[in-house]
Amino acid sequence: MAKPKPEGARRTSALGELMAGMIAADGPMPVDRFFALALGHPQHGYYMGRDPFGRSGDFITAPEVSQMFGELIGIWCAAGWQIMDAPAEWNLIELGPGRGTLMADALRACSVMPGLRDGLTVHLVEMSPELRKVQGETLQRAGVEPVWHDRLEDVPDAPSLIIANEFFDALPVQQIQKQAGRWHERVVGLDADGALAFGLAADPVPEALVPGWAAGADEGAIAELSPAREAVAREISRRITAHMGAALIIDYGHVRSGVGDTLQAITKHQFADVLSRPGEADITSHVDFETLAAAITAGGAKAYGPVTQGEFLTRMGLREREDMLRKRADARARIRLSRGAQRLVAGNQMGQLFKVLAVTHPDMPKPAPFNIEPEKRA
Ligand code: SAH
Repeated sequence: MAKPKPEGARRTSALGELMAGMIAADGPMPVDRFFALALGHPQHGYYMGRDPFGRSGDFITAPEVSQMFGELIGIWCAAGWQIMDAPAEWNLIELGPGRGTLMADALRACSVMPGLRDGLTVHLVEMSPELRKVQGETLQRAGVEPVWHDRLEDVPDAPSLIIANEFFDALPVQQIQKQAGRWHERVVGLDADGALAFGLAADPVPEALVPGWAAGADEGAIAELSPAREAVAREISRRITAHMGAALIIDYGHVRSGVGDTLQAITKHQFADVLSRPGEADITSHVDFETLAAAITAGGAKAYGPVTQGEFLTRMGLREREDMLRKRADARARIRLSRGAQRLVAGNQMGQLFKVLAVTHPDMPKPAPFNIEPEKRA
């Protein structure tokens, strides 16, 4: 029997060891394969066995920062339902619902609209069994029985409002890097000590795969491509165009496509090395909203924005909502409300990096807040 390794000698995670074995057997794996396994490996994937949110977890998301985030999205949904001509049967779909907090807050806010809840089915697209349990508990408290799916494609056709907050950043990206004038796929292999290490595939990728915006990039530049994200964007667009509906996509990322390595790992609210302990840190990359919007438009739907999260929430009435909630709040709750609002919209917190893209059926009028003139500053 092999002697157990002394504590501290294990350089990587259980999934890291498994990946090293796969690479030793089959050769280096492309970055998108590494990304997908790190998050979604059935036993060891980051999301598969844990609830990563909150102060004691690894990161915090907007719905966990303040109830007002989900509530304003609920108000957006109520307006969307009316613009869809108040369909009798309809779907509210959330992609990657985390703890179910956004959905619970949104439902509370949109339920003030008479008739809206009557023909509503809540559909959740979630891969993590652990998080499905948490979502079920959260929504049970809100009096809702959702239906879960592995993929958006599996949700039944009907007029739909679709919400995705910090979902797209969790879908894998491929990376390509320019070397001696040609683009090569970035891969994860093993270094001389057997540890996971980045490398480049020997053969260049076909020219057709290199996007136009990367063409003139400098030697050594890295470009990120995400067929997985584009496929979900196309499915959102197809569904909305065929059956009526609208969507809100919220995530961190850039308005225009451009080169750069944005792959990152987060654990305990700190950046970590991407390759050190796969399965134990969250892996994400920035969302390329220009490419996402192009996939939406190609599918037939209309895309609006993206605008910054700060602008979106302000134009949706964050301040007014805060004032309303303050009236019924005690001193501590008031502090929580104003800190939460600040964190959501401040440029140096979530207000600037996070963007919001709205999607509608081509015949629908402009959705909120794109139908409202931005506030004129005095
Ligand atoms: N929207 C939530 C959670 C964001 S974290 C919030 O704002 O708090 C990402 C979520 O997407 C998690 O629920 C995760 O389990 C889920 N997820 C990630 N990749 C997925 C995939 N490929 N398919 C389905 N769900 C996925």
